[in-house]
Amino acid sequence: MTEQLSVQACIMGAGPVGGTLACRLASAGVSVALIDQAELPPMENPAFDGRAYAIAAGSRTLLEDAGLWDVLDVPANPIRDIRVSDGQVGRASSRLHLHFDHREAGDEPRPFGWMVEARSLRKAMNARFPTHADLHLFAPAKAAAERSDDGCVVRLWDGRVIQCRLVIAAEGRNSPLREQAGIVVTRIPYRQTAIVCAIAHERPHHDLALEHFLPAGPFAALPMAASADAEPGGSPHVSAIVWTERTRDARAFMALDDGRFAREAARRLGPHLGAIRVVGRRWSYPLSAMIAHRYVDTRLALAGDAAHAIHPIAGQGLNLGFRDVIALANLIIEAARTDSDIGSERLLAQYQRVRQADNLLMFAMTDGIDRLFSTDRRIVRATRDLGINAVDRMDGIKRMFMRRAMGVPAVDG
Ligand SMILES: Cc1cc2nc3c(=O)[nH]c(=O)nc-3n(C[C@H](O)[C@H](O)[C@H](O)COP(=O)(O)OP(=O)(O)OC[C@H]3O[C@@H](n4cnc5c(N)ncnc54)[C@H](O)[C@@H]3O)c2cc1C
Repeated sequence: MTEQLSVQACIMGAGPVGGTLACRLASAGVSVALIDQAELPPMENPAFDGRAYAIAAGSRTLLEDAGLWDVLDVPANPIRDIRVSDGQVGRASSRLHLHFDHREAGDEPRPFGWMVEARSLRKAMNARFPTHADLHLFAPAKAAAERSDDGCVVRLWDGRVIQCRLVIAAEGRNSPLREQAGIVVTRIPYRQTAIVCAIAHERPHHDLALEHFLPAGPFAALPMAASADAEPGGSPHVSAIVWTERTRDARAFMALDDGRFAREAARRLGPHLGAIRVVGRRWSYPLSAMIAHRYVDTRLALAGDAAHAIHPIAGQGLNLGFRDVIALANLIIEAARTDSDIGSERLLAQYQRVRQADNLLMFAMTDGIDRLFSTDRRIVRATRDLGINAVDRMDGIKRMFMRRAMGVPAVDG
């Protein structure tokens, strides 16, 4: 006899977006099936993913509500200051720069965000999934979904069948569910690659995040807490770097030995952290952006990178995905509480209305910032420096940028 399961929602993809949504829904008593094509425990391996996420205040609250924040094994490191500068490789950065101090953002100073290791979040999710009786995990597993006005049937390749009211595509940027639904997307190739690794440095980072714009792309140094498996006797001061380069040059930098790689990184970073050393391995991520024209279809909602993937220039990709999760979870939890249909056309239209404009704005902003800064044209550089200087002097505009980066409303109330 075919094994049958009936749940309210079925989430495809147990990445940070799908996994967090599953925990959030299950902790509110909404039953979910969570399916990932990959095996999840190997994702905890240090060699799997070198990313660290800059998590905004709103995203932190979501992780708390989902029961994930308190079980992060490496404590999240606060970002209290952000310095944005531009320049050229090997030269001192331009005198004109933006400095964001968290104390200027509002009456109650709190950090702009927190740096969280991707691996630490993965471990927290893997530990949390089995603690929810209402969360049914299938991984590794492949599945196909049939959706109709009356409901959905998800068939796993081993013959098991799941019935639900709503399917959520959280399968990342190449979402098969999105393609099957015929949802059109706009893509932007960048011909840039992000090199990601951790560095140990001589001087403390003082919770400062640095974004240094260079002609080939931005170079970011982000303050991290020392990792639990830091080398004994090594420096306690650690940062994550996200170094964007033209793809052909990135390949050459990736091939350098650690010493030469660290020297090249130091030429872009500047002297404020003292001597630096690469810790562990390096990763490279080819960059592109993508945005879906619709987020919903019959009993289907897209969330996270399945709906929008943006340039990592502002470290906002996952924060946008988490804002999708907050909006969708609130609608689903409220509908479930009142015994309404969680996959209704009305609910899905509301989800799209709430999320599309916000995501589109960030998509355009990150693309625009990359174009504005990743150039060596003198006239563009001069105009941009004027703009940086002007924003640094305008308290209202600075405050608005800061609150947006924190994921809180741009104006109070
Ligand atoms: C270099 C770099 C740095 C970044 N830094 C930041 C940052 O500082 N802050 C920030 O907010 N964001 C950042 N981002 C963006 C962030 O990494 C992504 O937005 C985030 O990973 C998206 O999560 P997701 O769960 O939507 O998708 P993914 O992480 O892609 O996860 C998708 C999951 O779905 C599974 N899957 C795929 N296909 C199927 C299928 N057919 N069936 C079942 N399962 C499937 C996959 O196995 C995977 O587990 C960065 C990105 C890059 C490249």
